[in-house]
Amino acid sequence: MMQPTLEYTKRLDKEDSLSKFREEFYLRQGTIYMDGNSLGLLSKRAERALLESVEDWKEHGIDGWTKGKHPWFDLSERLADLLAPLVGAATEEVIVTGSTTVNLHQLVATFYQPQGKRTKILADELTFPSDIYALQSQLRIHEYDPDQYLIRVKSRDGRIIEEEDIIEAMTDEVALIILPTVQYRSGQILDMKRLTAEAHKRGILIGFDGCHSVGAIPHSFSEWDVDFAYWCNYKYLNGGPGSVGGLYVNRKHFGTNPGLAGWFGSRKDKQFDLEHTFTPAETAGAYQIGTPHVLSMAPLLGSLEIFVEAGIENIRKKSLEINQYFMDLIEVELTGLGFEIGNPRTDARRGGHVCLEHPEAARICKSLKENGIIPDFRAPNVIRLAPIALYTSYEDVWNVVQILKKIMLEKQYEKFANGREIVA
Ligand SMILES: *Cc1c(COP(=O)(O)O)cnc(C)c1O
Repeated sequence: MMQPTLEYTKRLDKEDSLSKFREEFYLRQGTIYMDGNSLGLLSKRAERALLESVEDWKEHGIDGWTKGKHPWFDLSERLADLLAPLVGAATEEVIVTGSTTVNLHQLVATFYQPQGKRTKILADELTFPSDIYALQSQLRIHEYDPDQYLIRVKSRDGRIIEEEDIIEAMTDEVALIILPTVQYRSGQILDMKRLTAEAHKRGILIGFDGCHSVGAIPHSFSEWDVDFAYWCNYKYLNGGPGSVGGLYVNRKHFGTNPGLAGWFGSRKDKQFDLEHTFTPAETAGAYQIGTPHVLSMAPLLGSLEIFVEAGIENIRKKSLEINQYFMDLIEVELTGLGFEIGNPRTDARRGGHVCLEHPEAARICKSLKENGIIPDFRAPNVIRLAPIALYTSYEDVWNVVQILKKIMLEKQYEKFANGREIVA
């Protein structure tokens, strides 16, 4: 049985088989970082890989493309090899390239092929805004009015989207579906396997935004037959600010011409023929565009090593346990203080963070920061707190709850205005 005591918390840390990874990360003395779902922390291995890549540049100049410790020419492919197990795909189905939003543009430009009355794109009303902006602009390129051609499935409670409601919206007017794997605010996991099967039954292609799940939960994109996916590598994967993103394309679509072509999508052996006829790679590599951002990819070499060693199943197991403990503590220690837990409670439906709701969320977040805790705020009333399997301890979670309690009982938050900062 869970016990709300510091002794019990310390025992959980002793029994934690992933606790040894904590010392690999740069944790700041006196702060508890609960925002690894927005920007993961730097690990020593990621730092080393970055410095080695700088060294390669220093030593080899242009020859760094093929020489040095981490040659750049096939770096995107080598990283894909490390990343593929985290998304449940074959190496050739994955590539490290672009950013989330750019990759979404690429994949929609490639796979949105309106025909006859099948012209609409289906998304949901809780999705991250950048994805919506990308879809709206892609529709405009086709001269379709986004207000009519972009369908956004409604949430019944403002927190989650029911799979039934999505399936009901899969009409014969829908050409393409874009959904998150995990909702960024409530942490709801969508049932990707079921939604993919239902979409395919109706002849609709489906792609997922994996920003809030890759590195936190296991996926089986190939087995579920998902058409494509895209994600960033700077959240749970700790690739660093602006780190290069990733994409997955189901092998059955290999050979589909990229909507946005560029020379780095070439077959590797043909790229330097420098012909004006494009020969795309026969892999997910075809959806790369230009020269890879080498220094923004290099940290991933070190970071992904840690994931290979730790194992995504173990990471998910601890993530579920530590988040459960966190929620249990919140319920015991913070009752009557106006908090509500907004994420789904069952294991199969919750991602890597706790969505804590409070009408005073914005200023409670400021108070948390003043107390050395780094959360993030999502308007209007959500405090996101993410205990990260690789570097958050049970004692951290205990301390967060104790400090939250103190902030509330002493009304410390009242000295702040209840609005957000520029970067919330
Ligand atoms: C973080 C995040 C993004 C960010 O997109 P970038 O192109 O990397 O800036 C997009 N979608 C979702 C769901 C996210 O969580």
